[in-house]
Amino acid sequence: MTEPGFEEVARLGRGGRAGVIHTPHGDIATPAFIPVGTKAAVKGVLPGEVASTGAQAVLANAFHLYLQPGPDIVDAAGGVARFMGWAGPTFTDSGGFQVMSLGAGFKKVIEMTLDGAEPTDDRATAGGRQRLSRVDEDGVNFASPLDGSKHRFTPEVSVGIQHQLGADIMFAFDELTTLRNTRQYQESSVARTGRWAQRCLDEHVHLTAERTEKPYQALFGVVQGAQYEDLRRGACQGLAATRGPGGETFDGYGIGGALEKSMIGTIVRWCAEELPDDKPRHLLGISEPEDLFAAVESGADTFDCVNPSRVARNAAIYTATGRYNVTNARFRRDFGPLEDGCDCLTCRSVSRAYLHHLFHAHELNAYTLATIHNERFTLRLVDAMRASIIDGAFDDFKTDWLARWRPNSSR
Ligand SMILES: [Zn+2]
Repeated sequence: MTEPGFEEVARLGRGGRAGVIHTPHGDIATPAFIPVGTKAAVKGVLPGEVASTGAQAVLANAFHLYLQPGPDIVDAAGGVARFMGWAGPTFTDSGGFQVMSLGAGFKKVIEMTLDGAEPTDDRATAGGRQRLSRVDEDGVNFASPLDGSKHRFTPEVSVGIQHQLGADIMFAFDELTTLRNTRQYQESSVARTGRWAQRCLDEHVHLTAERTEKPYQALFGVVQGAQYEDLRRGACQGLAATRGPGGETFDGYGIGGALEKSMIGTIVRWCAEELPDDKPRHLLGISEPEDLFAAVESGADTFDCVNPSRVARNAAIYTATGRYNVTNARFRRDFGPLEDGCDCLTCRSVSRAYLHHLFHAHELNAYTLATIHNERFTLRLVDAMRASIIDGAFDDFKTDWLARWRPNSSR
């Protein structure tokens, strides 16, 4: 059995660091951006091209692969990496986010009732949307967004699915709250997520012992607690102290939950201060390039982000000075690359005018080419952050980079 491990290479004065995560399918140099391949595919880009963008690992989703094609099929195929033809490490997230919110991809926000009481903030739903899941102490009932069929996730079910999916790094099943939940609900939710974490670790130890023929899969505990410092720190302490039946610990930690953009760095720092230094920390779901600096300098080792590919499919192109939409009329005869100096396949081979044409003609290669550039842009940025941490030049790099970057530019 190969135990996963984390090795620190260099450190910022504060929480941030460069390191290496060892997994049975290869090493991940950190900080690392992990592209999202929700349904065992990075939308529109073949695994070989994903690798050529510099991606070291891919993150798939337990909820989606449970509904379709089913974890038994992925298991029979030899795990998610082999199933999708990806040669490197893989992550799966627990499905908690999707089950609780049925949000990302489905544009629905569920209400969550507080045991006994009903504060209005805890009954929030997206306008006109139907609640598709209900949380209880033991787990969550939900209706499939594909066909309305009824399902139930518990900590044991999620860990069982993730063992079948076979990713190198898995996440404990947690309850996702929203920023609109009351403090009282957040407290009870963090406590429940802590109890679920214990059940996840116990089940993980049990399944690991049962499935000795498979490479070791690492399980990360997930920190909740929304915007509250005491809840976040308490959740971290609880997870760090959680032990399996034989004294096992979590192999790393995920920082999840409701995160206000302005609070990303602060929350990651609280967690980095409480969690064991010798374990990797993954920030679950981040949105924009400028947020990566806050995450990295505060101590996130890996993070997944759906935005580079999602916005690419809407023709939004990242550059070091901000992002622009290549469907804009002024790119019709622009034969330059998407970004000067970019070494991606797209920028080395075709022009803005060509991408402009493909998007207007609804050609599928538009998605592929734009996604390759945006993934490469994000990966290059994070690689440069890593190099700057090692060189002791992170602050200068950050200052220079952010001075050029315009978050909402539309050149
Ligand atoms: Zn490019």
